Amino acid sequence: MSKTYKYLFGPVPSRRLGRSLGVDLTPFKTCTLDCIFCQLGHTTNKTIERAEYMPLAEIKTELEAWIQQDGKADYITLSGSGEPTLHSRFGDILQFIRDHTAIPAALLSNGTLFSMPEVREAAKRADLVKLSLSAWNQVSFEHLNRPHADLRFSQIMEGYRAFRDGFKGMLWIEVFLVPGVNTLRNDAEKIAAFVEALNPDEIHLNTAVRPPAEEFALAMPQSEMESLTGLFRPVAKVIAEFSPEASDEVMANEETILAMLKRRPCTAQQIARVFGMHLNEVSKYLGKLLRMGKICAQGSESSPYYSAAKSGAQEIPYDITSSKKEI
Ligand code: SF4
Repeated sequence: MSKTYKYLFGPVPSRRLGRSLGVDLTPFKTCTLDCIFCQLGHTTNKTIERAEYMPLAEIKTELEAWIQQDGKADYITLSGSGEPTLHSRFGDILQFIRDHTAIPAALLSNGTLFSMPEVREAAKRADLVKLSLSAWNQVSFEHLNRPHADLRFSQIMEGYRAFRDGFKGMLWIEVFLVPGVNTLRNDAEKIAAFVEALNPDEIHLNTAVRPPAEEFALAMPQSEMESLTGLFRPVAKVIAEFSPEASDEVMANEETILAMLKRRPCTAQQIARVFGMHLNEVSKYLGKLLRMGKICAQGSESSPYYSAAKSGAQEIPYDITSSKKEI
């Protein structure tokens, strides 16, 4: 990206979407949920109030400039620091993308506002919609996703069914698996039944391979995730990025972040500021560096400091596949 933007980030290499230009529609951690596995940390503004959180006109101006100056991506994706459907004009942004470029538009949503007809109508302007579905009733929804008090699992499922009936684009469902919370075969079967009724084009299984909001939200081992794929129709794909991607761009970004962490410990927010990256992007690289044992996390669980791992140093390796810190 040759220019600095306020609302656009990337294009970020994404396993599912190729090179994806992100559009951030909410202030940091403004969301309807506070998922235990959230890679962005705790939700600081849990709300179901829809508003024009970021000015529509400014987002359009940035998109127009990016299309003219850069204009190369596999998708333009509404996602970012919270729930994009909280933005009261997200449908206008999808329409703007449709009208100004041939690049398809994707909406990555937690789906909690799909009980609202106006949200479903706006979402239909996307070429691809990815919705989350990781619970099977109100109790499991509250345990895993810690929703706003006014959200009801049953109403969201009704909204999903209504959306599927009228949506002609591509529908993906993401199931986020947290061992001990929603991974018993019996529970996974209940989730699979809800998913199958939606007749999605693809089903993706994910797990906490990046640092999660709660340390107890462990990553599910890849082999165990693979064993659940056949419960789903169509058969699910494991999309958690267990192995590092090998593209030059990804490796260059990892090396740059690692070089900085060798000089001084930083939080994810500080890294994002220094490199002008989105926190989502930084979190992705930190997750990979942690899994490769190249960095450690120390200090507060909600906002840890990351530093380069040194053999024999007094650092506490942070293992995202384990509930305990190793000493
Ligand atoms: S994972 Fe997504 S839906 Fe859940 S709290 Fe984080 S931003 Fe919100």
